[in-house]
Amino acid sequence: MKRQPASTRSNGAGQRNGRRPVTLIPGDGIGPEVIGAAVRVIEAAGVAVAWDRQAAGAEAMRRVGTPVPDALIRSLKRTRLALKGPLETRVGEGYRSVNVYLRKTFDLYANLRPTQSFQGVPTPFRNVDLVVVRENTEDLYAGIEHQVTPGVVESVKVITAHASRRIARFAFEYAVRNRRKSVTAIHKANIMKLSDGLFLKCARAVARNYPRIRYQEQIVDAACMRLVTDPQRFDVLLLENLYGDIVSDLCAGLVGGLGMVPGANYGDRGAIFETVHGTAPDIAGKNIANPVAAILSAAMLVEFLGYKSRAARIRSAVEATLRTGRSVTPDLGGTATTSAMTDAIIRAMR
Ligand code: ATP
Repeated sequence: MKRQPASTRSNGAGQRNGRRPVTLIPGDGIGPEVIGAAVRVIEAAGVAVAWDRQAAGAEAMRRVGTPVPDALIRSLKRTRLALKGPLETRVGEGYRSVNVYLRKTFDLYANLRPTQSFQGVPTPFRNVDLVVVRENTEDLYAGIEHQVTPGVVESVKVITAHASRRIARFAFEYAVRNRRKSVTAIHKANIMKLSDGLFLKCARAVARNYPRIRYQEQIVDAACMRLVTDPQRFDVLLLENLYGDIVSDLCAGLVGGLGMVPGANYGDRGAIFETVHGTAPDIAGKNIANPVAAILSAAMLVEFLGYKSRAARIRSAVEATLRTGRSVTPDLGGTATTSAMTDAIIRAMR
């Protein structure tokens, strides 16, 4: 699996008794099960973390009547790092989404989702190895909506040169540091000439500074078709917020589903590591959720903390466990519980 960029590595500041403080948000639905698995793996890897457990989303709503408690914000301001489970968003009446609120508050502008095929995982697609880089702070997620007149509403799509250049630079820096060959900007500038046009203009200007990385562009609908007919042609994908959200779920489908894809949100001063999948209420509390996405997100955190070889060991253990096809959860065709699959991954680390 490819390395994380050096620019997205922590300097280890704020160590307490040799343990790096990290906010732990178990989240809702299957969150506590998969995040619990990820914490076990981090501990088995011997990485010294001082967890500061905080509630958010529905759990916080039940406990303290708000989905984003002050204690959570204080913790994040202190640690500037979190491992986070999925949050139920519809409870956040005051906020459209707790996830969007956290990303905007801490200016975590880059969402990175490495999507890779693993041997042993039942899917018709082979050798997929791509990375989704999604802009995280604007687009239709700016949350500017209003009713013009009953029966007519408007949602405003906000695209700025500042955010577009910043995310393009992140994608190219990632490509350089991880020896990736190409960056594909995905857009709909043929229809949204101003907004997507500006995004492309910025991506092209940034691309000129990286002559060794091949830069290409694709219209989002054609890119979706290409992704399912020829996914191996893609390397780093650069997308605005909404296209990034949709296309990354499509990419998850190429490698065995939402249970397989990790994610991280990076800003200049902090990062939140989280799965691409949501709360999966249909399987919550049954101990059958696939822990791989959470464990691979944990590996991204471990690498961010500076423990590159331990992160590699976690990824190799996941690969080895998936390859055998034993001890895997039902979404991967097995019968193992979340705990049993986590046990197998920890055994493979030794
Ligand atoms: P939310 O509203 O929080 O996004 P959702 O159920 O609409 O929840 P996801 O949680 O992303 O969306 O999941 C969609 C489906 O994918 C789930 O119903 C579940 O069956 C499956 N799924 C998601 N994550 C996992 C996982 N880690 N292990 C197994 N199946 C999963």
